[in-house]
Amino acid sequence: MARVYNFSAGPSMLPEPVLKKAAEEMLDYKGAGMSVMEMSHRSKVYQSIVEQAEALLRKLMNIPDNYEVLFLQGGASMQFGMVPMNLMTKNRKADYINTGNFSEKAIADAKLFGTVNIAASSKEANFAYIPETFNFSKDADYVHITTNNTIEGTRYVTLPDTGDVPLVADMSSNILSEEYDVSKFGLIYAGAQKNIGPAGLTVVIIRRDLIGKHFENTPAMLRYDLHAKEKSLYNTPPCYSIYVAGLVFQWIEEQGGVKALEKINVEKAKILYDVLDDSDFYRTTVEKKYRSRMNVTFRTPSKELDEKFVAEAAKEGLLSLKGHRSVGGIRASIYNAMPVEGVQKLADFMKRFEKENK
Ligand SMILES: *Cc1c(COP(=O)(O)O)cnc(C)c1O
Repeated sequence: MARVYNFSAGPSMLPEPVLKKAAEEMLDYKGAGMSVMEMSHRSKVYQSIVEQAEALLRKLMNIPDNYEVLFLQGGASMQFGMVPMNLMTKNRKADYINTGNFSEKAIADAKLFGTVNIAASSKEANFAYIPETFNFSKDADYVHITTNNTIEGTRYVTLPDTGDVPLVADMSSNILSEEYDVSKFGLIYAGAQKNIGPAGLTVVIIRRDLIGKHFENTPAMLRYDLHAKEKSLYNTPPCYSIYVAGLVFQWIEEQGGVKALEKINVEKAKILYDVLDDSDFYRTTVEKKYRSRMNVTFRTPSKELDEKFVAEAAKEGLLSLKGHRSVGGIRASIYNAMPVEGVQKLADFMKRFEKENK
């Protein structure tokens, strides 16, 4: 069996030990005589799976006690609507920082529920940087940011200071890849399929005082308070995805935690950016300071060569390097589960491809 290096932006690679463990436990989870997929979500054995996953995530991210951890569905995209439905309710106003495609989607949904003030935007520069000055409104119910811009390949180097206004972050593509002080946020959300586990699970970390402020006509499934009260078991949760996420959390712990992974992620990104910086063949569009450590975006001199690059890389077991359909070019997503060897192999391929096609 030959495993490839999968540079997909999501769903993306999972650590091999996690897949092996899941395979081992597939038919008979710890003597239950069934797989986790077949279990009642109300059973004791399943309860312990959710509890362990939550405990591990709390430990890894050092989540303070006054925060709830929710395991929901609907992807990060559902949070684009759920956040305003639950938090934009006092002044019906929120500040959004527009740093890319996913920020724009969040903004579009928020506009359905109130006034959106764009406190800053890098749209005029094709999202090549992260703004550092903001035009915050005094009466915003929250400020929304996208900590890592998956499509464009940028990341916040410093978080905006929003004072008493809760900071809400879409952390889908860099959660658990670098250390964050959770207490700086009112709410963090992330679709699982980049750095956490299988698609179908969305993690929400919310400060308790922000729970229960939803619009009166919010459907049950979209209310944070009900999910918090029922400990993520309001309805049938994405049981198997939560189980695999728990295995990933365990794996992160075994790697030495988020701090250790951050160090490796910095190294991994440097390997690729060094190749790009040493080259007059490849082009990057993102300002160096704001370069993502998770999604490395670049181009060759032509669209045809971009396509050739992606095709030839695939033949060498380096897969899914095509840039997002909205921006084109090449994108290497190197989340936590991508080993250094995979990145090194890609760097070697890049150098060879440059020589052969210059
Ligand atoms: C992938 C991604 C999304 C969309 O996630 P879904 O789970 O597909 O809804 C939103 N925001 C960011 C930053 C992402 O990387």
